[in-house]
Amino acid sequence: MRSRFFPLMSFDELNLIDPILSALREEGYTTPTPIQQQAIPQVLEGHDLLGIAQTGTGKTAAFTVPILQILHQTAQVERHAPGRIRCLVLTPTRELAIQIGESFAAYGRHLPKLRSTVIFGGVGQHPQVQALKRGVEVLIATPGRLLDLMNQGFIDLRNIDIFVLDEADRMLDMGFIHDIKRILPKLPARRQTLFFSATMPGQIQELANSILRPNPVKVTVTPVSSTADTVTQAVYMVEKTDKPALLEHVLQDQNIRRVLVFTRTKHGADKVVRTLAKAEISAEAIHGNKSQNHRQRALSNFKAGTTRVLVATDIAARGIDVDELTHVINYEIPNEPETYVHRIGRTGRAGANGTALSFCDEEERAYLQDIQKLIRRQIPVVQGHPYTSSLVAPVPLSGGAPIKRPKGPAGRPPRPGRGPQAGGQARPEGGNRQPNRGAERSGSHAPRPSHAQASSRPEGGAEGAGRNGQRRSRGNNSGRNR
Ligand code: AMP
Repeated sequence: MRSRFFPLMSFDELNLIDPILSALREEGYTTPTPIQQQAIPQVLEGHDLLGIAQTGTGKTAAFTVPILQILHQTAQVERHAPGRIRCLVLTPTRELAIQIGESFAAYGRHLPKLRSTVIFGGVGQHPQVQALKRGVEVLIATPGRLLDLMNQGFIDLRNIDIFVLDEADRMLDMGFIHDIKRILPKLPARRQTLFFSATMPGQIQELANSILRPNPVKVTVTPVSSTADTVTQAVYMVEKTDKPALLEHVLQDQNIRRVLVFTRTKHGADKVVRTLAKAEISAEAIHGNKSQNHRQRALSNFKAGTTRVLVATDIAARGIDVDELTHVINYEIPNEPETYVHRIGRTGRAGANGTALSFCDEEERAYLQDIQKLIRRQIPVVQGHPYTSSLVAPVPLSGGAPIKRPKGPAGRPPRPGRGPQAGGQARPEGGNRQPNRGAERSGSHAPRPSHAQASSRPEGGAEGAGRNGQRRSRGNNSGRNR
């Protein structure tokens, strides 16, 4: 995690007990992140919390740390019978559940009387049931498996003091809302509730209102607005119908070893995977419509390097913690500029260099303008690539002709219940038109973005060319090897 996110303050100022402070030191944490600074004291005081923050902000420790302290301190005073579940954390995916379980284990390593276990679907229930029978104070669960084991009588939620609902918007995206509504009545009304979501569409706000006590403490972590210098950025101006072929072309560059490709919709992600499969490029998609098992397998293959390209929607990508991501590709430009910053922050981590490439079509030029304004820099335009089109002009940082916002699906806000990326370009992308092979290609490699130059001119001398004419400026290119 980068230090630029943190104002200076230390964990010692948060009234934490020694066993937890030692654990945090052993984790190498010196400074609490903004959400930790704001949330930890409030949670310790027993307030309900509405946290608007996403993965990567340090939100897991923001709730695990005070929960451990509360459970430890109240156990001493109130003499709770050991082995009763006193804290339930509900989270949408297995990966997040495991990560949260690891956090409880790590920050609670000097509090051995507090035991936690993680339950999720897609695997045999026997070991999970055994762990529950041995007794735990903290249960981290995905909704489906929790309901399953509750219905079988293995889980009793009557002693819950603290309930955490994590990634509420993603829960909604993955269709867990009904499971949650079945679980809620089983929780004691007198409890402390911590509610986290990265976004707050109407349906999530309603859910929060129905779960939290009135006037919860609200903590919002302001979206990041700057991009790391370790990420090289470049944008390809391209017509929408040429994006599949451009992606295939760009992926000829074998320096792109491990790449996360972002699409706005689940449907779009599947379509990209199909395009790449035809080109024999190993790719898998992860999004809310995929099963837990599928997502887990896709992620393991990606981490192991057997899958080179992982295609994800923004919500699904949040849980992914993959080191050594060489590239991020914005196959579609997000309509929220902060999302761009989050996306490209997935590469160039821990001082490593990363590259973020964006494919911008005519309709997305307004989004590109928003992004450039937010990050206060011009993203260099890749010149002379095989799909250059005079119909999609570069976007200057300032000045230039006004850019019209798209009226179609790409510009519409998401429909409630469909997730933030829904309502985007779910339309077919106009086929996989192949360019004239004889006249194109600059070898097998994509242009190096680091050499790309920013330009506000129409590109490549193809100004004014018709759609069927010489509209693409092509370099001295050779054929592509399939
Ligand atoms: P999260 O947003 O909870 O997924 O956390 C993102 C990453 O930040 C995790 O890898 C944590 O281990 C790490 N992290 C959390 N809090 C801190 C901190 N105060 N200092 C350094 N790293 C942290």
